[in-house]
Amino acid sequence: MSRRKPKDDDYDYGDLCRDLREARKTARKAHGLPCPECLRLLPKAHPTILLPQQRCKIHGYRDPRPRTEDTEYLHKKEQL
Ligand SMILES: [Zn+2]
Repeated sequence: MSRRKPKDDDYDYGDLCRDLREARKTARKAHGLPCPECLRLLPKAHPTILLPQQRCKIHGYRDPRPRTEDTEYLHKKEQL
């Protein structure tokens, strides 16, 4: 999402982004749970995947699990 251009030493920049995205994907898979309201009300649609304390935009359901250090960074906007 970042449109900023690295100023220098950017030879690793692409790799870093890719690694970060992969890490996020893995963490999301590990920590993300489908919104139960999505499953209940929209069984045919793709459910919103919620991280701890994340809110489903459709139902306002908030995941009750506490945020942990493992998942905290997933909430932050991509910034390098
Ligand atoms: Zn939902």
